[in-house]
Amino acid sequence: MSRIEKVAIIGLDCAEPSLVFEKWLDDLPNLRRLTQAGLYGNLESCIPPITVPAWTCMAASKDPGTLGIYGFRNRKDNTYEGLRIATNLEVREPRIWDILGRAGKQSITVGVPQTFPIVRPPPGCQITSFLTPSVESEYTSPPQLKREIAEVVGEYMLDVKGFRTENKQWLLDQIYEMTDKRFKVCRHLLTTKPWDLFWMVEMGPDRIHHGFWQFMDKAHHRYKPGNPFENAIHDYYVYTDKLIGELLEVMDVETTAVWVVSDHGSKRMDGGFCFNDWLIREGLLVMKEPVSGKRKFNFADVDWSKTKVWGEGGYYGRCFINRAGREPRGTVPEREYESFRDELVAKIEALPDHEGQPMGSRAYKPEDIYDQVRNVAPDLVVIFGDLRWRSVGTVGNPDVYTFENDTGPDDANHAQQGMYILSHASLPTERRDVSLYDVAPTTLKMMGHPVPDDMRGTALV
Ligand SMILES: [Zn+2]
Repeated sequence: MSRIEKVAIIGLDCAEPSLVFEKWLDDLPNLRRLTQAGLYGNLESCIPPITVPAWTCMAASKDPGTLGIYGFRNRKDNTYEGLRIATNLEVREPRIWDILGRAGKQSITVGVPQTFPIVRPPPGCQITSFLTPSVESEYTSPPQLKREIAEVVGEYMLDVKGFRTENKQWLLDQIYEMTDKRFKVCRHLLTTKPWDLFWMVEMGPDRIHHGFWQFMDKAHHRYKPGNPFENAIHDYYVYTDKLIGELLEVMDVETTAVWVVSDHGSKRMDGGFCFNDWLIREGLLVMKEPVSGKRKFNFADVDWSKTKVWGEGGYYGRCFINRAGREPRGTVPEREYESFRDELVAKIEALPDHEGQPMGSRAYKPEDIYDQVRNVAPDLVVIFGDLRWRSVGTVGNPDVYTFENDTGPDDANHAQQGMYILSHASLPTERRDVSLYDVAPTTLKMMGHPVPDDMRGTALV
């Protein structure tokens, strides 16, 4: 049997294991074939299961606390000055292409989040991700690769611009165009450049879930039977499977182990919980003037001398305590901090949903779930209603429960379990649930490279 010389990682952002393995596997001949020679199952994401930092957690096998990256945007210090985008510059831990590069191995990475701006690129080729301002930016390494891409696909698409839209047919067309171009570029690179590690991430599954979940899921509060987009997500998975098949054709599968992975899964979203409005009601967040009408939460509007806590919106909630001696006008004294935080956990976990039923929310202390806690971590990482509810940061909403999204139409939230397939003829065929932290050590080991001791995951083979 051939030994493994190369590893290819096909990343499908947000691909949902229950759709792939339970519902549609018979319609996905290439993914099915991969599951027939190797391991597959759920890939437990990081907490929180968000694109940034999840892909970096996977590529470095480090948790968000150790990376010091808690979301797309992070507090830069303990002042009331807001958040900064977590770009490639914030990533201090080596990812597997860095480790392999030092050993002289060549990598091709396409679309992996947190690779822009390009600094110290590994040997090989790099195309940055959707978190790049535009194709006018320096989004390739080497820089002249940009011209080559334009010759292959015309204008490359880093993302669908304005994907939170009601213009669904336009959105669908854009997602297909983006995916098509990305796979075409990947086929081009795989056939023309030397490589040992190939890692691509396609954002299409994430965009289609957020934009089209209501049309597919009968349990979604906006679902309408017989709507024209009922099969949109299914058909896109089928199409992506075909593109994956075309990619496999240009790889030597005898000597290449192939992963198909997602950074987290997807589930219907029931609504949003207005975190800051709730904190205002509880008297824990005090604004300088009473809020009338929905608006953005601005630090400048807060009466910090009376405020104990504030929250951030997003697919999960972040809770920050206004701690004396840490925040400029902190109010929660050092000696009361822990008991106050425990009270807050109890309050959040006891929250009912809009019908008075238990919501099942969880609030985690960073030090309980991470190996290390670096940079400015939230005091609590809050998952509302098992991710069926998102966290809404705006203030002045009519109720603490909302069914409109403050950032545009969005039908789905992320799920804690992503998916994976790891396929090679030398592997046993087995369904086994593993962790996203296992991807990097497994890949290094398969490539005959030692696994660093400080990786959080373990090699599966
Ligand atoms: Zn994602």
